[in-house]
Amino acid sequence: MNQVVLGNTGIVVNKNGFGALPIQRISKEEAAILLKKAYHSGITFFDTARFYTDSEEKIGYALSDKRSEIYIASKTMAIKVTEFWEQLKESLKQLNTDYIDIYQFHNPAFCPKPGDGTGLYEAILEAKDQGLIRHIGITNHRLPVAIEAAESGLYDTIQFPFSYLATHEEIQLVKLCQEKGIGFIAMKALSGGLITNSAAAYAYLDQFENVLPIWGVQKEKELDEFISYVDHPPILTEELKAVIEKDRMELGKDFCRGCGYCLPCPAQIDIPTSARMSLMIRRAPVSIYLNEDWKKKMKKIDDCILCNHCKNHCPYGLDTPKLLKENWVDYQKFM
Ligand code: SF4
Ligand code: SF4
Repeated sequence: MNQVVLGNTGIVVNKNGFGALPIQRISKEEAAILLKKAYHSGITFFDTARFYTDSEEKIGYALSDKRSEIYIASKTMAIKVTEFWEQLKESLKQLNTDYIDIYQFHNPAFCPKPGDGTGLYEAILEAKDQGLIRHIGITNHRLPVAIEAAESGLYDTIQFPFSYLATHEEIQLVKLCQEKGIGFIAMKALSGGLITNSAAAYAYLDQFENVLPIWGVQKEKELDEFISYVDHPPILTEELKAVIEKDRMELGKDFCRGCGYCLPCPAQIDIPTSARMSLMIRRAPVSIYLNEDWKKKMKKIDDCILCNHCKNHCPYGLDTPKLLKENWVDYQKFM
């Protein structure tokens, strides 16, 4: 069984974490089945957020009797100190616990620090002093913010998108975290659905000993795949290396990761999927996207008013309106 030591936190868990964003989309009982099954199969790290509607409540419901045997990471999007305390109090209530193992600032546009005028770092430190949280973390999609957090020495963990499609700079971030004793929690290890070979995804990440991938799980079939890696971790064979190489060639650098930080769109375009439709129709079963529902959704790209909200909010610096148009043209040709 592969274990990860999350930097200087002292947290040691199996190298398969449970990403609890998708359980928002299933019922409480269905979620409880997945969460309990994960726990009984050796998965003990659960990552959620106040922003993930009832995800915290479902974890509290399913696992509060196992509280001392699991680790819970949650997140706050607070931008004011009053919101910070309200959200932390609510998270503790929903999770049915009196402490959170890792409390993370959820994708802030800047790196909160003491004395920056927001009071947020002072508040999280106070929460730690009060024993309400055990470690301080930050999640981000912006590389400069993540690097600043790693260099600041203020964070015990950093959560950042990391997969075998990572750039050289992103790999350097992982190494910086390792040098500084910061636990690295990898979100989007399947790059928002673009990576379809989870064994290759796992085997690649396994080369980085401080990296803990959290797999977003919604279906039992998906969970079973990751559970099988608890006892039989995939090895980076020549065959899997070839899969990785092929994907890297096909996807390049400038592709939409489906993170959704560009929303809302005033023209109601489903940007996170539409902006990478060319990839999805070639990588996922075609029936999912070549149907009347998606034809209507893709046609909405014609309604774009070029407000550039999406472009200005994309952490990957994509020219989103242009990308959408290209995907729409390609989709029509593909049809
Ligand atoms: S530029 Fe177009 S796609 Fe982007 S947010 Fe504005 S209307 Fe939506
Ligand atoms: S366009 Fe950018 S912000 Fe929007 S979903 Fe894609 S990667 Fe994320």
